Amino acid sequence: MKRIKEAVKEYYGKRCLDHEPECVVCQAWAEFDEAKRAVGIERRRRKIKIMEALLSIDTRKWLATDKEKDRLMSKWIDEEYSEATDEQKANLLKLFKEV
Ligand SMILES: [Zn+2]
Repeated sequence: MKRIKEAVKEYYGKRCLDHEPECVVCQAWAEFDEAKRAVGIERRRRKIKIMEALLSIDTRKWLATDKEKDRLMSKWIDEEYSEATDEQKANLLKLFKEV
């Protein structure tokens, strides 16, 4: 996405201060934002799939306790969703534990 962002910037210039639906620059940036959002959702979806697969394995063999599992999942969430708030992270942990 970084290279696409640079290309949009080079071709259309910086974002306008005000959003005008008729403006070509605003339209280009809106499309970029939409593409970026779609990529983010897809990436998240893929990670959740991986997490689901991992959790479907019999983890008892290699994770001694539930506490250890929570710790590893929290660590994973911290790394993968570093931009999330503590509340969002807690909700994700809850979500993954339900899977
Ligand atoms: Zn504009």
